[in-house]
Amino acid sequence: MNKMSEKTQAELLKEKLFAENEHAAYTCEDGEIETADAFCEGYKTFLDNCKTEREAVAFTKALAEKEGFKPFNPKASYKAGDKVYYDNRGKALILCVFGTESLESGAKIVASHVDSPRLDLKPNPLYEDSELALFKTHYYGGIKKYQWTAIPLALHGVIYRKDGVCVTVNIGEDDGDPKFVVTDLLPHLDRQPKNGEVIKGEDLNILIGSRPFGKDKGSELVKLNILNILNEKYGITEADFVSAELECVPAFKAVDVGFDRSLIGSYGHDDRVCAYPSIMAAFAATSPKHTSVTVITDKEETGSDGNTGLCSDYLKHFIADIAATQGLNGRDVIRASECLSADVNAGFDPIYPSVHDKLNAAFLNKGIVVTKYTGSRGKSGTNDAHAEFMAKIRTLFDGANVAWQTGELGKVDEGGGGTVAKYVANLGVEVVDVGVPVLSMHAPFEIVSKLDVYMAYKGFKAFIEN
Ligand code: MN
Ligand code: MN
Repeated sequence: MNKMSEKTQAELLKEKLFAENEHAAYTCEDGEIETADAFCEGYKTFLDNCKTEREAVAFTKALAEKEGFKPFNPKASYKAGDKVYYDNRGKALILCVFGTESLESGAKIVASHVDSPRLDLKPNPLYEDSELALFKTHYYGGIKKYQWTAIPLALHGVIYRKDGVCVTVNIGEDDGDPKFVVTDLLPHLDRQPKNGEVIKGEDLNILIGSRPFGKDKGSELVKLNILNILNEKYGITEADFVSAELECVPAFKAVDVGFDRSLIGSYGHDDRVCAYPSIMAAFAATSPKHTSVTVITDKEETGSDGNTGLCSDYLKHFIADIAATQGLNGRDVIRASECLSADVNAGFDPIYPSVHDKLNAAFLNKGIVVTKYTGSRGKSGTNDAHAEFMAKIRTLFDGANVAWQTGELGKVDEGGGGTVAKYVANLGVEVVDVGVPVLSMHAPFEIVSKLDVYMAYKGFKAFIEN
Protein backbone atom coordinates (compact mmCIF):
# COMPACT_ATOMS: atom_id res chain seq x y z
CA MET A 1 0.00 0.00 0.00
CA ASN A 2 1.42 3.40 -0.89
CA LYS A 3 1.19 6.50 1.21
CA MET A 4 -1.44 8.11 -1.06
CA SER A 5 -4.10 5.47 -0.44
CA GLU A 6 -3.82 5.49 3.33
CA LYS A 7 -6.77 7.24 4.91
CA THR A 8 -6.40 9.54 7.86
CA GLN A 9 -8.26 8.84 11.06
CA ALA A 10 -10.58 11.75 10.33
CA GLU A 11 -11.34 10.40 6.86
CA LEU A 12 -12.16 6.98 8.27
CA LEU A 13 -14.36 8.46 10.96
CA LYS A 14 -16.13 10.65 8.39
CA GLU A 15 -16.89 7.58 6.28
CA LYS A 16 -18.41 5.96 9.33
CA LEU A 17 -20.41 8.88 10.67
CA PHE A 18 -21.36 11.24 7.83
CA ALA A 19 -24.42 10.69 5.64
CA GLU A 20 -23.26 10.28 2.04
CA ASN A 21 -25.37 11.35 -0.88
CA GLU A 22 -23.69 10.71 -4.20
CA HIS A 23 -24.58 10.97 -7.88
CA ALA A 24 -26.35 7.72 -8.79
CA ALA A 25 -23.76 7.14 -11.55
CA TYR A 26 -21.23 6.34 -8.78
CA THR A 27 -23.47 4.05 -6.80
CA CYS A 28 -25.51 2.18 -9.42
CA GLU A 29 -24.73 -1.34 -10.51
CA ASP A 30 -22.66 -2.14 -13.61
CA GLY A 31 -24.68 -1.66 -16.78
CA GLU A 32 -27.44 0.15 -14.96
CA ILE A 33 -26.90 3.47 -16.74
CA GLU A 34 -27.58 1.70 -20.05
CA THR A 35 -30.59 -0.05 -18.52
CA ALA A 36 -31.92 3.30 -17.31
CA ASP A 37 -31.47 4.85 -20.77
CA ALA A 38 -33.34 1.95 -22.38
CA PHE A 39 -36.12 2.14 -19.77
CA CYS A 40 -36.56 5.82 -20.55
CA GLU A 41 -37.20 5.15 -24.25
CA GLY A 42 -40.44 3.47 -23.14
CA TYR A 43 -41.13 6.37 -20.84
CA LYS A 44 -40.75 8.87 -23.69
CA THR A 45 -43.29 6.91 -25.76
CA PHE A 46 -45.64 7.00 -22.78
CA LEU A 47 -45.20 10.79 -22.47
CA ASP A 48 -45.95 11.37 -26.15
CA ASN A 49 -49.07 9.22 -26.07
CA CYS A 50 -50.44 10.37 -22.72
CA LYS A 51 -50.72 14.14 -22.58
CA THR A 52 -54.06 14.09 -20.76
CA GLU A 53 -55.44 11.93 -17.97
CA ARG A 54 -57.90 10.29 -20.38
CA GLU A 55 -55.08 9.39 -22.79
CA ALA A 56 -52.91 8.07 -19.95
CA VAL A 57 -55.71 5.83 -18.70
CA ALA A 58 -56.59 4.53 -22.17
CA PHE A 59 -52.92 3.88 -23.05
CA THR A 60 -52.19 2.17 -19.71
CA LYS A 61 -55.34 0.07 -19.94
CA ALA A 62 -54.32 -1.19 -23.38
CA LEU A 63 -50.83 -2.05 -22.08
CA ALA A 64 -52.32 -3.74 -19.01
CA GLU A 65 -54.66 -5.88 -21.10
CA LYS A 66 -51.65 -7.10 -23.09
CA GLU A 67 -50.04 -8.00 -19.73
CA GLY A 68 -53.06 -10.11 -18.83
CA PHE A 69 -54.99 -7.66 -16.63
CA LYS A 70 -58.78 -8.09 -16.76
CA PRO A 71 -61.59 -5.78 -15.60
CA PHE A 72 -62.17 -6.31 -11.86
CA ASN A 73 -65.31 -8.28 -11.06
CA PRO A 74 -66.35 -7.91 -7.41
CA LYS A 75 -68.31 -11.16 -7.63
CA ALA A 76 -65.36 -13.25 -8.86
CA SER A 77 -62.79 -14.96 -6.67
CA TYR A 78 -59.11 -14.45 -7.31
CA LYS A 79 -55.95 -16.37 -6.63
CA ALA A 80 -52.33 -15.27 -6.23
CA GLY A 81 -50.92 -13.76 -9.41
CA ASP A 82 -54.31 -12.76 -10.84
CA LYS A 83 -54.27 -9.30 -12.41
CA VAL A 84 -57.22 -6.94 -12.52
CA TYR A 85 -57.90 -3.28 -13.22
CA TYR A 86 -60.57 -0.79 -12.25
CA ASP A 87 -61.27 2.07 -14.64
CA ASN A 88 -62.77 5.10 -12.93
CA ARG A 89 -64.59 7.03 -15.68
CA GLY A 90 -61.68 6.84 -18.08
CA LYS A 91 -59.72 9.34 -15.99
CA ALA A 92 -58.24 7.27 -13.18
CA LEU A 93 -57.12 3.66 -13.17
CA ILE A 94 -56.23 1.06 -10.54
CA LEU A 95 -54.04 -1.93 -11.43
CA CYS A 96 -54.11 -4.77 -8.93
CA VAL A 97 -52.03 -7.94 -8.71
CA PHE A 98 -53.23 -10.41 -6.08
CA GLY A 99 -50.52 -11.51 -3.66
CA THR A 100 -49.64 -14.91 -2.31
CA GLU A 101 -50.63 -13.75 1.18
CA SER A 102 -54.18 -12.96 2.25
CA LEU A 103 -55.20 -9.31 2.10
CA GLU A 104 -55.32 -9.50 5.89
CA SER A 105 -51.63 -8.54 5.77
CA GLY A 106 -52.52 -5.40 3.79
CA ALA A 107 -51.96 -4.13 0.27
CA LYS A 108 -48.96 -2.31 -1.16
CA ILE A 109 -50.31 0.83 -2.76
CA VAL A 110 -48.41 3.10 -5.16
CA ALA A 111 -50.41 6.22 -5.99
CA SER A 112 -49.41 8.72 -8.67
CA HIS A 113 -51.38 11.12 -10.85
CA VAL A 114 -51.75 11.59 -14.60
CA ASP A 115 -53.33 15.03 -14.80
CA SER A 116 -50.96 17.92 -15.49
CA PRO A 117 -51.20 21.70 -15.64
CA ARG A 118 -52.72 22.89 -18.91
CA LEU A 119 -55.22 25.29 -20.49
CA ASP A 120 -58.81 24.01 -20.54
CA LEU A 121 -61.32 25.51 -22.96
CA LYS A 122 -64.21 27.33 -21.30
CA PRO A 123 -67.73 25.92 -21.90
CA ASN A 124 -68.39 28.77 -24.36
CA PRO A 125 -64.90 29.28 -25.75
CA LEU A 126 -65.12 30.56 -29.31
CA TYR A 127 -65.08 34.24 -30.23
CA GLU A 128 -63.88 36.58 -32.90
CA ASP A 129 -62.10 39.88 -32.36
CA SER A 130 -60.45 42.03 -35.02
CA GLU A 131 -60.98 39.26 -37.57
CA LEU A 132 -59.05 36.74 -35.50
CA ALA A 133 -60.77 33.68 -34.03
CA LEU A 134 -59.82 32.68 -30.49
CA PHE A 135 -60.68 30.19 -27.76
CA LYS A 136 -61.20 31.37 -24.16
CA THR A 137 -59.50 29.13 -21.58
CA HIS A 138 -59.46 28.55 -17.85
CA TYR A 139 -56.08 27.23 -16.80
CA TYR A 140 -55.90 23.95 -14.86
CA GLY A 141 -53.46 23.59 -11.96
CA GLY A 142 -50.66 25.89 -10.90
CA ILE A 143 -48.95 27.59 -13.82
CA LYS A 144 -46.63 30.53 -14.40
CA LYS A 145 -48.86 32.05 -17.05
CA TYR A 146 -46.15 33.75 -19.09
CA GLN A 147 -44.64 30.31 -19.83
CA TRP A 148 -47.72 29.36 -21.83
CA THR A 149 -47.51 32.18 -24.34
CA ALA A 150 -45.73 32.03 -27.69
CA ILE A 151 -45.26 28.26 -27.69
CA PRO A 152 -46.96 25.77 -30.04
CA LEU A 153 -50.01 24.15 -28.45
CA ALA A 154 -52.06 21.08 -29.32
CA LEU A 155 -55.70 20.41 -28.53
CA HIS A 156 -56.74 17.12 -26.90
CA GLY A 157 -60.01 15.93 -25.52
CA VAL A 158 -63.54 14.78 -26.14
CA ILE A 159 -66.74 16.40 -27.37
CA TYR A 160 -70.11 14.82 -26.59
CA ARG A 161 -72.41 15.96 -29.38
CA LYS A 162 -76.12 16.58 -28.99
CA ASP A 163 -76.76 13.31 -30.87
CA GLY A 164 -74.86 11.43 -28.14
CA VAL A 165 -71.82 10.63 -30.26
CA CYS A 166 -68.45 11.18 -28.54
CA VAL A 167 -65.80 12.72 -30.77
CA THR A 168 -62.17 12.36 -29.75
CA VAL A 169 -59.95 15.32 -30.53
CA ASN A 170 -56.18 15.17 -30.89
CA ILE A 171 -54.83 17.89 -33.14
CA GLY A 172 -51.43 19.58 -33.22
CA GLU A 173 -49.27 16.55 -32.43
CA ASP A 174 -48.46 15.21 -35.89
CA ASP A 175 -45.94 16.92 -38.16
CA GLY A 176 -48.55 18.02 -40.67
CA ASP A 177 -51.08 19.18 -38.07
CA PRO A 178 -51.89 22.84 -37.48
CA LYS A 179 -50.98 24.08 -34.00
CA PHE A 180 -52.35 26.80 -31.76
CA VAL A 181 -50.83 29.59 -29.68
CA VAL A 182 -51.42 32.16 -26.98
CA THR A 183 -49.88 35.33 -28.34
CA ASP A 184 -47.73 37.67 -26.26
CA LEU A 185 -46.96 41.35 -26.47
CA LEU A 186 -43.81 42.47 -28.26
CA PRO A 187 -40.99 43.74 -26.00
CA HIS A 188 -41.17 47.16 -27.68
CA LEU A 189 -44.61 47.78 -26.20
CA ASP A 190 -44.45 45.68 -23.07
CA ARG A 191 -45.75 46.95 -19.74
CA GLN A 192 -44.22 46.56 -16.30
CA PRO A 193 -45.44 43.42 -14.55
CA LYS A 194 -47.61 44.11 -11.52
CA ASN A 195 -46.96 41.85 -8.49
CA GLY A 196 -45.07 39.48 -10.74
CA GLU A 197 -48.17 38.89 -12.85
CA VAL A 198 -47.02 39.35 -16.42
CA ILE A 199 -50.02 37.65 -18.01
CA LYS A 200 -53.56 37.53 -16.61
CA GLY A 201 -55.50 34.26 -16.56
CA GLU A 202 -58.29 35.88 -18.55
CA ASP A 203 -55.79 36.75 -21.29
CA LEU A 204 -54.74 33.15 -21.97
CA ASN A 205 -56.77 33.05 -25.17
CA ILE A 206 -55.73 30.71 -27.93
CA LEU A 207 -55.39 31.89 -31.51
CA ILE A 208 -57.19 29.43 -33.80
CA GLY A 209 -57.80 31.18 -37.13
CA SER A 210 -57.89 34.35 -39.21
CA ARG A 211 -59.77 33.86 -42.51
CA PRO A 212 -63.47 34.67 -43.15
CA PHE A 213 -66.03 32.26 -44.56
CA GLY A 214 -66.34 32.89 -48.34
CA LYS A 215 -66.64 36.36 -49.80
CA ASP A 216 -69.97 37.36 -48.26
CA LYS A 217 -69.70 40.41 -46.06
CA GLY A 218 -71.07 40.25 -42.49
CA SER A 219 -70.15 39.96 -38.86
CA GLU A 220 -68.14 37.17 -37.21
CA LEU A 221 -67.24 35.47 -40.47
CA VAL A 222 -63.87 34.25 -39.20
CA LYS A 223 -65.67 32.57 -36.29
CA LEU A 224 -68.18 31.17 -38.78
CA ASN A 225 -65.38 29.76 -40.92
CA ILE A 226 -63.84 28.03 -37.89
CA LEU A 227 -67.19 26.55 -36.86
CA ASN A 228 -67.74 25.35 -40.41
CA ILE A 229 -64.33 23.60 -40.38
CA LEU A 230 -65.14 22.03 -36.98
CA ASN A 231 -68.56 20.98 -38.23
CA GLU A 232 -67.09 19.29 -41.30
CA LYS A 233 -64.34 17.60 -39.27
CA TYR A 234 -66.20 16.64 -36.08
CA GLY A 235 -69.89 17.18 -36.86
CA ILE A 236 -70.20 19.66 -34.01
CA THR A 237 -71.95 23.00 -33.60
CA GLU A 238 -71.05 25.79 -31.16
CA ALA A 239 -73.49 24.49 -28.52
CA ASP A 240 -71.58 21.19 -28.32
CA PHE A 241 -68.62 22.87 -26.57
CA VAL A 242 -70.68 22.86 -23.38
CA SER A 243 -70.46 19.06 -23.23
CA ALA A 244 -66.79 18.89 -24.20
CA GLU A 245 -63.52 18.60 -22.32
CA LEU A 246 -60.86 20.14 -24.51
CA GLU A 247 -57.40 20.60 -23.08
CA CYS A 248 -54.64 22.68 -24.64
CA VAL A 249 -51.20 21.24 -23.99
CA PRO A 250 -47.71 21.96 -25.34
CA ALA A 251 -47.34 20.51 -28.85
CA PHE A 252 -43.76 19.30 -28.46
CA LYS A 253 -42.56 15.76 -27.91
CA ALA A 254 -40.38 14.28 -25.17
CA VAL A 255 -36.70 14.66 -26.09
CA ASP A 256 -33.27 13.96 -24.67
CA VAL A 257 -31.61 17.00 -23.14
CA GLY A 258 -27.87 17.55 -22.82
CA PHE A 259 -24.85 16.49 -24.88
CA ASP A 260 -24.69 13.38 -22.68
CA ARG A 261 -28.42 12.71 -23.18
CA SER A 262 -28.73 12.20 -19.42
CA LEU A 263 -31.96 14.19 -19.09
CA ILE A 264 -35.44 14.17 -20.60
CA GLY A 265 -37.31 17.35 -21.44
CA SER A 266 -41.06 17.04 -21.83
CA TYR A 267 -44.49 18.32 -20.97
CA GLY A 268 -46.18 16.46 -18.11
CA HIS A 269 -43.34 14.77 -16.20
CA ASP A 270 -45.40 15.80 -13.16
CA ASP A 271 -46.57 13.17 -12.60
CA ARG A 272 -46.13 10.70 -15.46
CA VAL A 273 -42.54 10.33 -14.30
CA CYS A 274 -43.90 8.47 -11.28
CA ALA A 275 -46.94 6.94 -13.02
CA TYR A 276 -44.92 5.16 -15.74
CA PRO A 277 -42.36 3.53 -13.41
CA SER A 278 -45.18 2.47 -11.06
CA ILE A 279 -47.09 0.88 -13.97
CA MET A 280 -43.95 -0.93 -15.15
CA ALA A 281 -43.33 -2.11 -11.58
CA ALA A 282 -46.89 -3.47 -11.40
CA PHE A 283 -46.31 -5.34 -14.67
CA ALA A 284 -43.02 -6.76 -13.40
CA ALA A 285 -44.55 -8.05 -10.15
CA THR A 286 -45.71 -11.47 -11.32
CA SER A 287 -46.31 -13.09 -7.96
CA PRO A 288 -45.92 -10.58 -5.12
CA LYS A 289 -46.33 -11.57 -1.48
CA HIS A 290 -48.73 -8.71 -0.78
CA THR A 291 -51.47 -7.65 -3.15
CA SER A 292 -50.24 -4.64 -5.11
CA VAL A 293 -52.55 -1.74 -5.86
CA THR A 294 -51.20 0.77 -8.38
CA VAL A 295 -53.29 3.91 -8.72
CA ILE A 296 -52.94 6.50 -11.44
CA THR A 297 -55.32 9.20 -10.38
CA ASP A 298 -56.84 12.38 -11.76
CA LYS A 299 -57.39 15.86 -10.31
CA GLU A 300 -54.23 16.06 -8.18
CA GLU A 301 -53.27 19.39 -9.70
CA THR A 302 -56.56 20.98 -8.63
CA GLY A 303 -56.57 19.59 -5.10
CA SER A 304 -57.74 15.98 -5.60
CA ASP A 305 -61.46 16.87 -5.37
CA GLY A 306 -64.09 15.26 -7.59
CA ASN A 307 -64.94 11.58 -7.99
CA THR A 308 -61.81 10.81 -10.02
CA GLY A 309 -59.53 12.46 -7.45
CA LEU A 310 -58.15 10.82 -4.33
CA CYS A 311 -60.21 12.97 -1.95
CA SER A 312 -63.10 10.77 -3.10
CA ASP A 313 -63.71 7.26 -1.85
CA TYR A 314 -62.95 5.32 -5.02
CA LEU A 315 -59.68 3.85 -3.72
CA LYS A 316 -61.24 2.99 -0.37
CA HIS A 317 -64.17 1.31 -2.10
CA PHE A 318 -61.90 -0.64 -4.44
CA ILE A 319 -59.93 -1.98 -1.47
CA ALA A 320 -63.20 -2.88 0.27
CA ASP A 321 -64.27 -4.72 -2.89
CA ILE A 322 -61.04 -6.74 -3.24
CA ALA A 323 -61.19 -7.44 0.52
CA ALA A 324 -64.71 -8.79 0.10
CA THR A 325 -63.49 -11.29 -2.52
CA GLN A 326 -61.50 -12.87 0.35
CA GLY A 327 -64.30 -12.52 2.90
CA LEU A 328 -62.47 -9.66 4.64
CA ASN A 329 -63.52 -6.26 5.86
CA GLY A 330 -62.11 -3.35 3.84
CA ARG A 331 -61.14 -1.36 6.90
CA ASP A 332 -58.99 -4.19 8.23
CA VAL A 333 -57.14 -4.36 4.92
CA ILE A 334 -56.69 -0.58 4.83
CA ARG A 335 -55.28 -0.51 8.37
CA ALA A 336 -52.65 -3.06 7.39
CA SER A 337 -51.77 -1.36 4.07
CA GLU A 338 -48.79 0.76 3.10
CA CYS A 339 -48.56 3.36 0.37
CA LEU A 340 -45.94 5.24 -1.56
CA SER A 341 -47.46 8.53 -2.61
CA ALA A 342 -45.56 8.77 -5.86
CA ASP A 343 -45.18 12.37 -6.94
CA VAL A 344 -42.44 14.66 -8.09
CA ASN A 345 -40.41 16.98 -5.91
CA ALA A 346 -38.50 20.14 -6.80
CA GLY A 347 -34.95 19.49 -7.94
CA PHE A 348 -32.30 21.90 -6.69
CA ASP A 349 -31.68 24.48 -9.40
CA PRO A 350 -28.22 26.12 -9.19
CA ILE A 351 -29.58 29.21 -10.97
CA TYR A 352 -32.11 29.77 -8.16
CA PRO A 353 -30.42 28.47 -5.01
CA SER A 354 -32.06 30.93 -2.60
CA VAL A 355 -35.44 29.15 -2.43
CA HIS A 356 -33.91 25.88 -1.19
CA ASP A 357 -32.27 24.73 2.01
CA LYS A 358 -29.36 22.98 0.36
CA LEU A 359 -29.08 20.46 3.23
CA ASN A 360 -32.66 19.33 2.65
CA ALA A 361 -33.11 19.82 -1.08
CA ALA A 362 -33.40 17.09 -3.70
CA PHE A 363 -30.81 16.99 -6.49
CA LEU A 364 -31.09 15.57 -9.99
CA ASN A 365 -29.29 12.25 -10.40
CA LYS A 366 -29.18 11.44 -6.69
CA GLY A 367 -32.09 9.06 -7.05
CA ILE A 368 -35.68 9.15 -5.90
CA VAL A 369 -36.68 11.58 -3.21
CA VAL A 370 -38.24 10.33 0.00
CA THR A 371 -40.16 13.29 1.40
CA LYS A 372 -41.21 12.93 5.02
CA TYR A 373 -43.64 15.83 4.88
CA THR A 374 -44.95 18.26 2.29
CA GLY A 375 -47.13 21.20 3.28
CA SER A 376 -45.78 24.63 4.11
CA ARG A 377 -45.45 27.23 6.85
CA GLY A 378 -45.46 25.05 9.92
CA LYS A 379 -46.08 21.75 8.08
CA SER A 380 -49.63 22.85 7.40
CA GLY A 381 -51.67 20.33 5.38
CA THR A 382 -49.28 17.41 5.39
CA ASN A 383 -49.11 13.73 5.99
CA ASP A 384 -45.95 13.70 8.08
CA ALA A 385 -44.71 10.15 7.56
CA HIS A 386 -43.92 8.32 10.80
CA ALA A 387 -40.26 7.64 11.67
CA GLU A 388 -41.11 3.95 11.85
CA PHE A 389 -42.26 3.92 8.22
CA MET A 390 -39.33 6.10 7.10
CA ALA A 391 -37.02 3.53 8.69
CA LYS A 392 -38.74 0.71 6.86
CA ILE A 393 -38.55 2.42 3.46
CA ARG A 394 -34.93 3.45 3.98
CA THR A 395 -33.93 -0.13 4.79
CA LEU A 396 -35.95 -1.41 1.84
CA PHE A 397 -34.32 0.96 -0.68
CA ASP A 398 -30.81 0.39 0.68
CA GLY A 399 -31.34 -3.35 0.50
CA ALA A 400 -32.45 -3.17 -3.15
CA ASN A 401 -29.62 -0.76 -4.09
CA VAL A 402 -32.07 1.98 -5.03
CA ALA A 403 -30.40 5.40 -5.20
CA TRP A 404 -32.50 7.65 -2.99
CA GLN A 405 -32.26 10.91 -1.14
CA THR A 406 -34.37 13.01 1.15
CA GLY A 407 -35.75 16.36 0.10
CA GLU A 408 -38.12 19.09 1.16
CA LEU A 409 -39.94 21.29 -1.31
CA GLY A 410 -38.12 24.59 -0.71
CA LYS A 411 -37.24 26.59 2.36
CA VAL A 412 -39.51 26.53 5.42
CA ASP A 413 -41.49 29.67 4.64
CA GLU A 414 -40.78 29.83 0.92
CA GLY A 415 -43.88 28.16 -0.46
CA GLY A 416 -44.51 24.45 -0.53
CA GLY A 417 -46.87 22.04 -2.17
CA GLY A 418 -49.12 19.07 -1.55
CA THR A 419 -49.63 15.59 -2.93
CA VAL A 420 -52.20 12.81 -2.57
CA ALA A 421 -50.31 11.48 0.49
CA LYS A 422 -52.60 13.02 3.08
CA TYR A 423 -55.79 11.75 1.43
CA VAL A 424 -54.54 8.17 1.40
CA ALA A 425 -53.17 8.59 4.94
CA ASN A 426 -56.56 9.89 6.07
CA LEU A 427 -58.00 6.46 5.22
CA GLY A 428 -55.68 4.94 7.81
CA VAL A 429 -52.94 3.73 5.46
CA GLU A 430 -49.23 4.16 6.28
CA VAL A 431 -47.98 6.67 3.66
CA VAL A 432 -44.79 8.42 2.61
CA ASP A 433 -44.06 10.62 -0.39
CA VAL A 434 -41.55 9.17 -2.86
CA GLY A 435 -40.84 10.62 -6.28
CA VAL A 436 -38.54 11.97 -8.93
CA PRO A 437 -36.87 15.40 -8.67
CA VAL A 438 -37.84 17.79 -11.48
CA LEU A 439 -36.45 21.06 -12.80
CA SER A 440 -38.89 23.69 -14.13
CA MET A 441 -41.81 21.86 -12.49
CA HIS A 442 -45.20 22.81 -13.99
CA ALA A 443 -43.53 24.52 -16.96
CA PRO A 444 -44.59 23.40 -20.45
CA PHE A 445 -41.17 21.72 -20.73
CA GLU A 446 -40.02 20.04 -17.52
CA ILE A 447 -36.69 18.28 -16.93
CA VAL A 448 -35.90 14.99 -15.19
CA SER A 449 -32.85 12.72 -15.04
CA LYS A 450 -32.99 9.29 -16.69
CA LEU A 451 -31.19 7.67 -13.76
CA ASP A 452 -33.78 9.05 -11.34
CA VAL A 453 -36.64 7.73 -13.52
CA TYR A 454 -35.12 4.27 -13.45
CA MET A 455 -34.51 4.46 -9.69
CA ALA A 456 -38.22 5.23 -9.26
CA TYR A 457 -39.02 1.99 -11.09
CA LYS A 458 -36.54 0.07 -8.97
CA GLY A 459 -37.89 1.60 -5.78
CA PHE A 460 -41.56 0.92 -6.58
CA LYS A 461 -40.73 -2.63 -7.63
CA ALA A 462 -38.84 -3.28 -4.40
CA PHE A 463 -41.77 -1.87 -2.43
CA ILE A 464 -44.43 -4.06 -4.02
CA GLU A 465 -42.25 -7.19 -4.00
CA ASN A 466 -41.36 -7.03 -0.30
MN1 MN B 1 -47.59 16.10 -8.91
MN1 MN C 1 -47.90 19.23 -9.76
